[in-house]
Amino acid sequence: MSDTVTRFAPSPNGLLHAGHALSAIIAHDTARQRGGRFLLRIEDIDITRARPEFAAAIVEDLGWLGLSWEEPVLVQSQHFPEYLAAADRLIAQGLLYPCFASRADIAAAADPARTDPDGAPLYPGLWKNADAAAVAERIGKGETPALRLDMQAALQALSHKLSGAPLTFTEIDADGTPRQIVADPARWGDAVIVRKDVPASYHLAVVVDDARQGVTLVTRGADLFAATDLHRMLQVLLDVAEPRYSHHRLICWSDGRKLSKSNGDMGLRALRAEGANAADVRRAIGLAEAVPDGSSR
Ligand code: GLU
Repeated sequence: MSDTVTRFAPSPNGLLHAGHALSAIIAHDTARQRGGRFLLRIEDIDITRARPEFAAAIVEDLGWLGLSWEEPVLVQSQHFPEYLAAADRLIAQGLLYPCFASRADIAAAADPARTDPDGAPLYPGLWKNADAAAVAERIGKGETPALRLDMQAALQALSHKLSGAPLTFTEIDADGTPRQIVADPARWGDAVIVRKDVPASYHLAVVVDDARQGVTLVTRGADLFAATDLHRMLQVLLDVAEPRYSHHRLICWSDGRKLSKSNGDMGLRALRAEGANAADVRRAIGLAEAVPDGSSR
């Protein structure tokens, strides 16, 4: 039994497509090949989009793919107090500030030439140095703020914690070669750590859960590579263990577009309706045949 712990962490905002199958199978097979553990985590903090019926369908589709995981499955919406406790630790370090800006406020004030690595407008600092009276007034009106990471303050705290050493992570390439990557969290604006509508955010919840579940190898799509810079920063600021990362290729349409929730023919349900089985899906996404549990390669 090795100490490798991997996870598949889908957001139940829709049905799984071939890209999810690639993520899930890589995480599963890596754990199985090493005699490690494979976990499933339902990332349903986005209560405006997540639906229990999608979570149930995901579990069913993963079973159809021939995957098995440890129980219990961690369901993020059942753990809001833990995310808030982590946010409190950042507040205690003076690293979060309240922000009442709407998407429209941000779009109106943002510099169109400057975006976060995921393409969203770079937060233009609207509430960064807001005075206490303005904050109190909005709270008095019953509004709930988002809490944003003060990137400048966070970089300082990070430099102190790392004694000036660079922030890095280990990326395992598809051929198994480890590479040391220097993270650059400063290319992100002041990220939302606690949303207005939900007492958590993706970046906070993923860091809290990878740590508490003891995940040692985060396998996920290359579209989340840049987010790792922020995740590593939060791991250091929260004093939690550092997993290794392996960001895999994305499955795209032949014209290069990414698969999305409206996945048409590449949806697992559609493939299944056409008579495909799990081995066909593996072949279609360029993966080897299933390996028996516990075998080593
Ligand atoms: N829940 C995220 C998604 O479905 C994945 C997060 C992760 O693997 O870190 O895109």
